[in-house]
Amino acid sequence: MFPLRRCLSALLLALAALPLLHAQQEMVRRHRPMPKAGGYLILKADLHMHTVFSDGQVWPVTRVMEAWREDLDAISITDHDDYRPNEKDVSMDLSRPYEIARPIAEGLGILIVPGVEITKGDIHFNALFIKDHNAFRGKELITALTEARKQGAFSFWNHPGWKGRAQWWPVIATAYSDKLFQGIELLNGPVYYEEARQWIGQHGLTVMGNSDIHNASLPDEPRTMNLIFARERSVEGLREALHAGRTVAWDGGRRLIGKQEWLETLARACLAAPREVRFTPGFWYNGLPLVNESALAFELKPAEAPSWMQVQPVTVAPRSTTILQIRLNRDAPKSPGRVAIRLQVSNTTVTETGGPLVLPFEFELHP
Ligand SMILES: [Zn+2]
Ligand SMILES: [Zn+2]
Repeated sequence: MFPLRRCLSALLLALAALPLLHAQQEMVRRHRPMPKAGGYLILKADLHMHTVFSDGQVWPVTRVMEAWREDLDAISITDHDDYRPNEKDVSMDLSRPYEIARPIAEGLGILIVPGVEITKGDIHFNALFIKDHNAFRGKELITALTEARKQGAFSFWNHPGWKGRAQWWPVIATAYSDKLFQGIELLNGPVYYEEARQWIGQHGLTVMGNSDIHNASLPDEPRTMNLIFARERSVEGLREALHAGRTVAWDGGRRLIGKQEWLETLARACLAAPREVRFTPGFWYNGLPLVNESALAFELKPAEAPSWMQVQPVTVAPRSTTILQIRLNRDAPKSPGRVAIRLQVSNTTVTETGGPLVLPFEFELHP
């Protein structure tokens, strides 16, 4: 009847609601896409974080909201069993952070794994998939880890060198020979424990990388996480993959650390290359266009190429197509043929060697 008046009143209503809308924090998720790789889903999981229930600065719900904003698929809140600086102010019941966070996580589609940080002096282990959060307090390390195993936990040695260079100390050797842990956190926040790398292969352990976040997460702050190659998106899927050792640790920026097999599976799935490369005479940017739909960056350097070919180093940025530039020398063949090159992915560390992943590429070159 009075379209103008109706429009005006709608506008006034909208304006009146503005302060309310602004009072609320914006919930924006920054997407970090991952491809399927080797028939697995790649789940992004931070399995080491703290809340006010131990020495963290935030409430459990905040951890879930941060995880949602940072596009994590799975989290575990792992408060310390025997370090409780807030005990005057919050409950001593260590299952509370999990119970508080779980309905929010489930509502947002984030997997949540019950966990605890077994904290005995300077040696810390995370125990995941536990059934009773309160069964570890006051126990010495081996007893607490034995309790975790009894509860069906997947346990890993946290930040092994945080108080000085890590060694395979007698207590670690005992825990290992009693099959009380299955992984080592090589990457804790931005810190990489190179001295612990050798034990991954020697003892058949799983590579872990977590934030160990205590403060509130800041926007655009890189978050260390595990990339887990899971058969299905479920807590059970995570457990199976962790026991099978199908992980890569990612610092949320450039660095990737993992076993050869999983780094290679990851890089292969992320970097799609054509089978044929046609050279346009006189064009400066001839080469191999690499399509990367993932949130990961790959820094590539030539490791091996025919003597008549020059391959330029390049960084393939997240969600980009980047041309790996190739120049041909005068003595290059003039007719089409198969070419094999090998590229070093210099932002990766292979646990077996300590060096970067080397990735072979093959294509038909039409000069
Ligand atoms: Zn710790
Ligand atoms: Zn911790």
